[in-house]
Amino acid sequence: MKTRRLGKTELMVSEIGFGGEWLERHPEQEAIDLIRYAEKQGINIIDCWMPDPKSRDIIGKAIADSRDKWYVQGHIGSTWQDGQYVRTRDMRHVKPAFEDLLRRIGGGYIDLGMIHYIDTQEDWNSSMNGPFIDYVRHLRDTGVIRHIGMSTHNPRIAKMAVETGFIEMILFSINPAFDMKPASDDLTAMFADYDASLSGIDPERASLYRLCEEKDVGITVMKGFFGGRLFDAATSPFGAAFTPVQLIHYGLTRPGVCSILCGYDTPAQIDAAVAYETATDDERDYASVIAHAPLHAYRGQCTYCGHCAPCPMEIDIAMVNKFYDLAVQQPAVPDSVRQHYLALGATASACIGCQGCEERCPFGVPVAERMVKTAELFGC
Ligand code: SF4
Ligand code: SF4
Repeated sequence: MKTRRLGKTELMVSEIGFGGEWLERHPEQEAIDLIRYAEKQGINIIDCWMPDPKSRDIIGKAIADSRDKWYVQGHIGSTWQDGQYVRTRDMRHVKPAFEDLLRRIGGGYIDLGMIHYIDTQEDWNSSMNGPFIDYVRHLRDTGVIRHIGMSTHNPRIAKMAVETGFIEMILFSINPAFDMKPASDDLTAMFADYDASLSGIDPERASLYRLCEEKDVGITVMKGFFGGRLFDAATSPFGAAFTPVQLIHYGLTRPGVCSILCGYDTPAQIDAAVAYETATDDERDYASVIAHAPLHAYRGQCTYCGHCAPCPMEIDIAMVNKFYDLAVQQPAVPDSVRQHYLALGATASACIGCQGCEERCPFGVPVAERMVKTAELFGC
């Protein structure tokens, strides 16, 4: 496994990393074994944005005997309230949630203390002035976090973070669909000379990558596979399927990018990502897929990230969206999907259309509208 220097943090992180958000859906020992398997393959960086105790315990137990071999991205501002994820800057919740993370991860420190998920100017303004940022700086000054990072999906906010000088790295969502300039009739021309320059990529995102390189701010990547959507021509915004290796290569060839944090359910999926290290140039070639793909819009598609929670009606929006997407790809709703859907605590028909989730969704998913369609499709 090759490592890359994560910008000014000087940490040498594995090119392929571990995004932890799927751990929670596995039995504890199975998830622990998965992390240990990843470690054996040379993976040494893991993201823990999740506030739930189960995910945090899994990571802590998995790395207990090798804490010094791992770099943990631990998020500040991701909290667990009444059994739900809540993103907040309210210090009454931020502090205990971070202390809980520290305790469960173990070792007494977090390598990369991540300012959790700022996507709006308003959140940026309030987070960067006052007790929240004072707390982050205090954690860094006292060595509890070794470096300050930030997660965001918004290139404009990411550039502001890079310009501060004290935010040393960012976790940013990158894949060919997110990067692509939304409007163009000529994809072939748009992606000509794609590797050599950033032509074809949204200018704001391209300038972010250049700025990161210039300011020595490393990027770790989330959503590199667009929630698995890019593996299937039917769900890919390009109308063409990519392999994990191609998408990893896409991410790793953006300026400033140091590691692609993939989500894994099985050792085989880890193998498929780690196969990047020994892949040929042909196997890595994503550009030919893009160049021959029909162009589709991607905005409005759910990546199952969970950032829209909490729902006042306790709907697990990401899971409902996932079952809806799985169901509509088939001529009839498969029984297995229906059973999983019915097993959810609350189904789409519970939606009251408040649209609070839509304000929190970074991808502009019309959740309330989809809830209506989902309720119609499943009949509840
Ligand atoms: S619009 Fe529906 S799904 Fe979204 S938060 Fe409101 S009740 Fe929940
Ligand atoms: S609706 Fe938006 S925030 Fe919620 S899971 Fe889907 S992409 Fe994420």
